[in-house]
Order: sequence, then C-alpha cells, then structure tokens
Amino acid sequence: MSGPGRRPQTTIFTTMSALALRHGAVNLGQGFPDESGPARVIEAAAAAMRDGHNQYPPLAGIPELRQAIAAHQRHWYGLAPDPDEGVTVTAGATEALTAAILALVDPGDEVIALEPSYDSYKAAVAMAGGTLVPVRLEAPEGGAGHWRLDRDRLAAAVTDRTKVLLVNSPHNPTGTVLDRGELEAIAALAVERDLIAVTDEVYEHLVFDGREHVPLATLPGMWDRTVTIGSAGKTFSVTGWKIGWATGPAELVARVKDVKQWLSFASGTPFQYGIATALASEDGFYRDYAAGYQERRDLMVAGLRRIGFDVHEPEGTYFVTASAAPFGYADGLAFCLELPERCGVVAIPNQVFYLDQAARPEVRFAFCKRLDVIEEGLQRLG
Ligand code: PMP
Ligand code: GLN
Repeated sequence: MSGPGRRPQTTIFTTMSALALRHGAVNLGQGFPDESGPARVIEAAAAAMRDGHNQYPPLAGIPELRQAIAAHQRHWYGLAPDPDEGVTVTAGATEALTAAILALVDPGDEVIALEPSYDSYKAAVAMAGGTLVPVRLEAPEGGAGHWRLDRDRLAAAVTDRTKVLLVNSPHNPTGTVLDRGELEAIAALAVERDLIAVTDEVYEHLVFDGREHVPLATLPGMWDRTVTIGSAGKTFSVTGWKIGWATGPAELVARVKDVKQWLSFASGTPFQYGIATALASEDGFYRDYAAGYQERRDLMVAGLRRIGFDVHEPEGTYFVTASAAPFGYADGLAFCLELPERCGVVAIPNQVFYLDQAARPEVRFAFCKRLDVIEEGLQRLG
C-alpha cells in the first residue's frame, strides 16, 4: 500500500488480472479483448517483420502510419492534421497522455479532469508536479439515466492556475459519450479561459445506438488548442502492440514529441506497419466492430440487471458500471476482492478512478470478451 487511502502500489489492472489467474476466474476486469484483431492486420505486421522492418522507426513514427492517422482523422471527422508536423505515434495512448501532460503542465499548474478518470491521468499529472482537479460525472441513483457532466461544476473548477482540460469521451469507466452540448460547454470554457485541451478518444469507434463521437478538436476555436489522443489497441483488438498517437496543431504536437523522445524515443516498427494497414479499413469494418460490441453490451447489461445490479447502460466503450449496493455492498473494492474466490469473476472497483479513493458501491465490468465468456461470467455471478 502507498500514499493516502488504500490505493495499491501496483495498478488495479495488474492486481486484478493476477487474482483472475490465481482463481481461474473469468476476467471482466482489465480491458483487453480475448480475441486477436483482424488477420489482415496481423499479417501486415508479420510481413513488415519478414521484410526487415525491425529497427528503430523515426521518433514521430513511420510516414505510412502518420499519413494513415491523418487520413483517418480527415475521413471520419473532417480534421486535417499535417502528417509530418501534426501527428506523432506513441507507445500506446498511455505514452501520448503522459508526454502531453509533461509537456504542457508546469509545477503548480492545475489540470481539470472528468471524474471518475482513467488511472494514468493522476499519475501523469503528479509526475509533472501539477494538481489534478476532478469534476464529477454524476448519474441518477438506481440505474436509470447516464453519468453526465454538470457545466456549472465544470466552470467552478477553473482557477487562475488551470492550464489543461483533460477530457475523455467515450469515457472509461462510465461508458458516457459526451454529447454536443457537454462538449460545447467544455469548448466555451477553454476559449474563454484560454486553456489547452487534451482529449483521450481511444474508444472513438465504440459508440452505440446510433450515437456520434464528436472530437473536441472539431468544435469552433478548439483546433489550435487541442491535443487529440487515439490508440489502435481498442479499435483493432491489439492492446499488446501499444501503438497510439497524438494529433493536433504543429506547435502542440512538437511539444509532445519533445517529451516523447526521452520516454520511449520510438517503438514498435512492424506494428506501425500493421496499424497503417488497419486504419485504411473500410467504413463497414468500423460499423461491424461497434455493432458487435453493442450486442455484447446488451447481453452484459441485461444479465447484470437480471442478477440484481443497478446498471447505467453504457453509451460507448467496452465497460459497464454497475452498483453492488443492492447486494449490501457500500465498498466496491471489498466486493471486487471477494468476487474471484466467491464466484470466479474479476471486476474493477470504480473507486480507484477517484482522487479521494473513498469507498463506492460501483464496479466496472469489461465486455470485450467472447459472448460465451460473458455468458459464463454472468452465470457465475448469478
Ligand atoms: N485511455 C483510456 C481511457 C483507456 O481506457 C486506456 C486503456 N484501456 C488508455 C488510455 C491506454 O491506452 P493504450 O493501451 O493505448 O496505452
Ligand atoms: N485501459 C485498460 C482498462 O481500463 C487497462 C490498461 C492497463 O492495464 N493499464 O482496463
């Protein structure tokens, strides 16, 4: 144990995946798919290896991938990052996030982030000597409605020390997809208070029920002040390849690269070739991908509700947040630590995604698993 509260020194994902292995549990904790990405993508990386692309890539990534990332941003969102100056490939979105925060945040600066927030945000802000200021997403009790952003609360969090708005949509762990109104509120504040936005859009293609993912950078006044972060791990089911990217105006991306050169310098040459191929996939691939996950979401949500959990149906991502309160649990961490041994299932307690780490009844289940694995998990939970 370290620091305030009960946060384990290792990340929750390491802890819970180890428990899953020890108890032979169905791992609905750490978010990684149990099937590999498309064969043509794997083959493109293997071919790159056979063709001798096994040495360092350029710092910012191979040109083929930078061009593919820029083309993808243009095709889906009408954004036009310069493939040479406005795109850098990173070792997963994790490195892009950390490099961006280290580049943009000075000691004493404040970074506003939606809370709950993905665990690496707090660590990156701490490494920069900054302070993370959480703005809570709230959901109505009892499973109805979604976790939403309150504009007044967001505005009230800005101080003279605020430097960066760190946004994540689709949002891990709640599954909220920020709607245009929420994004406009963020953008208006960024423009009014002259803030930089770092936006984590790794689940950009995982939105359900006909919703639209709107990149923050597409809103008026935002392009020049936004670093947009993506990852191939989610969209192409290759989380172990750790290929991510940051895009934006040349001067902001240059600052990210300045830091990145001292973190990894560069990584994953053959995987970069694989992802250059992957990003050129036809629209139908992306649509089928979202539809496949929507089916799994529906199975998971219906199953959890049947068992008695309060569930806020996710609008995107491959996570669902459910409350264990109906089973008498106020502490999701205690619930998740008992779960592997009691019923052979692993989940993640949402409280690790809060700054105060206080006990909360919400837990996160990942549904990036085969339908039969989800069914097995639900049966064990029941
Ligand atoms: N941001 C969010 C919201 C995530 O959920 C994850 C990982 N699932 C990451 C960043 C890290 O992505 P990567 O594996 O590409 O480093
Ligand atoms: N992002 C993944 C999740 O939220 C985990 C990544 C990791 O293990 N650090 O489950």
